[in-house]
Amino acid sequence: MSYVDEIYERVVAQNPGEPEFHQAVKEVLDSLRLVIDANEDKYRKAGILERFTEPERIVSFRVPWVDDNGKVQVNKGYRVQFNSAIGPYKGGLRFHPSVNQGILKFLGFEQTFKDSLTTLPIGGAKGGSDFDPNGKSDREVMRFCQAFMTELYRHIGPDVDVPAGDLGVGGREIGYLFGQYRKLRGAYENGVLTGKARSFGGSLIRPEATGFGAVYYLESVMKHEHDTLEGKTVAVAGFGNVAWGVVQKLSELGAKPVTLSGPDGYIYDPDGITTKEKFDFMLEMRASGRNKVQDYADKFGCKFVAGDKPWGEKVDIIMPCATQNDVDLTQAKRIVANNIKYYIEVANMPTTNEALRFLMDQKNMVVAPSKAVNAGGVLVSALEMSQNSERISWTAKEVDDKLHQIMTEIHDGSAECAEKYGLGYNLVAGANMVGFQKVADAMMAQGIAW
Ligand code: GLU
Repeated sequence: MSYVDEIYERVVAQNPGEPEFHQAVKEVLDSLRLVIDANEDKYRKAGILERFTEPERIVSFRVPWVDDNGKVQVNKGYRVQFNSAIGPYKGGLRFHPSVNQGILKFLGFEQTFKDSLTTLPIGGAKGGSDFDPNGKSDREVMRFCQAFMTELYRHIGPDVDVPAGDLGVGGREIGYLFGQYRKLRGAYENGVLTGKARSFGGSLIRPEATGFGAVYYLESVMKHEHDTLEGKTVAVAGFGNVAWGVVQKLSELGAKPVTLSGPDGYIYDPDGITTKEKFDFMLEMRASGRNKVQDYADKFGCKFVAGDKPWGEKVDIIMPCATQNDVDLTQAKRIVANNIKYYIEVANMPTTNEALRFLMDQKNMVVAPSKAVNAGGVLVSALEMSQNSERISWTAKEVDDKLHQIMTEIHDGSAECAEKYGLGYNLVAGANMVGFQKVADAMMAQGIAW
């Protein structure tokens, strides 16, 4: 049996009940076959894939906090420190009822590749809790964040592990988390978290970075295809921070985002989500904690479709910015039926493996993988770390230029690598190979320390 297949079986056997983790590992291993086959003896002997698919450390802890009625609530807390071969662990914290160890392993594994792709020195991690911030008061969120940090602070630090936001963790939560870290630690180490507010070391452009970066990556795809964003319609899923950055940059570059989605359904706005009023309203919808995209349709008088996803709409470009497994085979078939050429993943693993394979098999379709497309967020987080350690602050233009430049490099590097291995314009395989190579080289060079 090939080394790659052996490892997949091993991962399934050793991580029962964690289908998302199996799915992420399979997608990556399939892309790595050529690279692994070319170095099979070397990698086998060093156990590189066994180590690559096993987190360096998982911290799992109890988070007790007091709700507004004085009752004690208990949630689960985790940090999965996946790989630190190329830098301190880096990756977001997710507060969402769906969070469990398997989901965080999948996200930490993906993060290792993504962080490697940024070309900056950061390792991969992910953490979070099954705490649901929706419907909680501000004080409850603060008390939860403090309780969460009371354990987490022992495991993180500016040169150890640097968490940030993800689903359910935005600027407000990062503020509360940092306040508690600073108190417990007794030192001003603001490089311990990224996505901070400006007043205590946050970077300009960090809130927009994931969305802007995704559109910069898309720009490179269009350039490769001798096409342009001007006048293109785009179906966007989600309505959170990432979708907010995406629609703004799309509009600025002359494209027209027409959909957003939420747990309740999706909206279709034929005029485009292209005005400041609409961008600002997205922030309001998110801050309201109602988690309903229908509010947009009510406000701007456009179509709302309950209980469905926007993938049946005829557009030029698809950008899923919500969460994992938003596009399964049935949804993928709707996309193909509409003859859409550009499928740009933005959320982490928004496509099931089956759907991804189906889309990649379409002759005229370009598929771009989330771990490259959404790397702009963590990339600017790494720039925030640099600014914090130098105790300086860069201008928005400096950060944005760097983001733009590196996103272009990520696209071009993946495209080149896939070409080199004879795979054509395969951005999925290219990203996995480039991301893997750097981490594997560092692991090989450092011996069997980990
Ligand atoms: N949660 C984001 C991601 O998936 C950002 C992580 C970070 O900035 O550390 O990449």
